[in-house]
Amino acid sequence: MGSTLFTNGLVWPGTSGAAFHEALAIEGSKIIAVGNDALSMKCDRVVDLKGAFVSPPFADGHAHPLFGGRQFFGPQITGLETIEEILAEIKRFADANPDQEWIIGGTYDPAIDPDGFFDAKLLDSVVADRPVVLNAMDYHTIWVNTEAMRRTGVDTFTGELEIGTVVRRPDGTAMGTLREWDAVNLIMSKAPLPSKAREIKALEYASKRYAADGVTWWLDAWVDRGMAEAYLAAEEAGVLLQGVNLAFRADPRSWQEDLPYFLERRKDIESAPKNRNLTAKTVKFFADGVIEGGTAALLEPYSNDPCSHGMPVWQWPEMTKAVVAMDKAGFQVHIHAIGDAGIRAALDALETAIKTNPAWDRRPTIVHVQLLDSVDLPRFTELGIIANFGPLWTRQDPMQAISSAPRIGPERADRQYLMRSLLDNKTRVAFGSDWPVTSEIPLEGIAVPVHRQTPDRKPEGGWMPHEAITIQEAFQAYTHEVAYQAFEDSSWGTLAPGFNADFIILDTNPFEIDPHDVPKINVLNTYRNGEAIYSR
Ligand SMILES: [Zn+2]
Repeated sequence: MGSTLFTNGLVWPGTSGAAFHEALAIEGSKIIAVGNDALSMKCDRVVDLKGAFVSPPFADGHAHPLFGGRQFFGPQITGLETIEEILAEIKRFADANPDQEWIIGGTYDPAIDPDGFFDAKLLDSVVADRPVVLNAMDYHTIWVNTEAMRRTGVDTFTGELEIGTVVRRPDGTAMGTLREWDAVNLIMSKAPLPSKAREIKALEYASKRYAADGVTWWLDAWVDRGMAEAYLAAEEAGVLLQGVNLAFRADPRSWQEDLPYFLERRKDIESAPKNRNLTAKTVKFFADGVIEGGTAALLEPYSNDPCSHGMPVWQWPEMTKAVVAMDKAGFQVHIHAIGDAGIRAALDALETAIKTNPAWDRRPTIVHVQLLDSVDLPRFTELGIIANFGPLWTRQDPMQAISSAPRIGPERADRQYLMRSLLDNKTRVAFGSDWPVTSEIPLEGIAVPVHRQTPDRKPEGGWMPHEAITIQEAFQAYTHEVAYQAFEDSSWGTLAPGFNADFIILDTNPFEIDPHDVPKINVLNTYRNGEAIYSR
């Protein structure tokens, strides 16, 4: 394990406003010096960076990479803009995979139909003999064909669902669009799970993709039964290049029975002899759904439906009880909360856990934080809660403009993603891609909160420009602040002596170009523990 000097570069240590160094020296898996100290060292090897930019690596503080990997092996419908294109791809995939009993894929853009109604008959026109299940981009809605409903009994289902809706045609028959947990589960609980070999391949694919994106750590924020086992198998097979933390999903109906299972899997992972990369420190809650599906929990009714405040996933007192129990069991709590009522309930639950349980370094996280009531804004800092955002969402894309904004009206639409206000209030802001809901590539999303515009630069001046942040703050949120969320900020996320030799080399200094050009930057190398896990 020799030493290497990286010289003639722009080394950004990882804190907004920090001065650059020209050089970085590593030995084995650690950084041993930066700046002049590095330059004065006799290293075994010298790498001329030729002016390239060196940053702490990206870390994805909220994503679903196993779903992303699985999607790669299904029909490729992400980004398709019309029903016709989607149907053509489903037909192509079905013809190419005649032996696949269930065709499961994603993700389609629900904004293709402004009301979000997708009919099974459309899918039947290309595949009628076996089930087809497509996930919507938000992963809270599925679109299925008639055979999927027939095999699972949804076609004759007339019961009431606690959380979720079977969308019906005017004649009362199930349309083929199913929203939220109980409805989605009517189908998915009967769909076959992928084989272990396929799961390992899916994770290998996700890991390679992330390495090329400059990512060295991720949180899988939705781990259901069978998935921790898949991760452990992938780690044993040696395909994980990154550090990975798992967040078990707490289900409102089964969390009490599931807690011992979470504890067992955590123990398995912590004690697995060959495990170097996996942890299972976190439990994930869905407080509510999504605005575009009308399921985010709102304080005031939906603008397009004065009878609806959304669809909370939990009865709030039950969520509080579960959050207190998971926190007491030593799990970091990670709560999906999008509507202002969902966010308030998440804050209330965490506040109760903090007041009830003994003090510990808990680093709770609320993720998405889309529509935040101003009364609740200071509570993030007061309670020490991390706000994790998907940076790519801070623009008026079709999802926002067509599917979300009309549901909440102009006043509420113009107070979404209050990143500047939270940062000014000293809240820790971290980023996550939510892949495969949206692109996992950090450089694609990272500058969006800086300009808050679509790629064609709309609206002029940016959407809610007073909530824009700087490019350095954005980098800090996608690097150092995720290290903090991961409890690893004394190991990586900073380029300084004693830290792990985890860093990325970019071909352009992102701090000095038009933020719209940041997605064009290339990742040249990704280093983790002193080893290049990716080289362009
Ligand atoms: Zn998510």
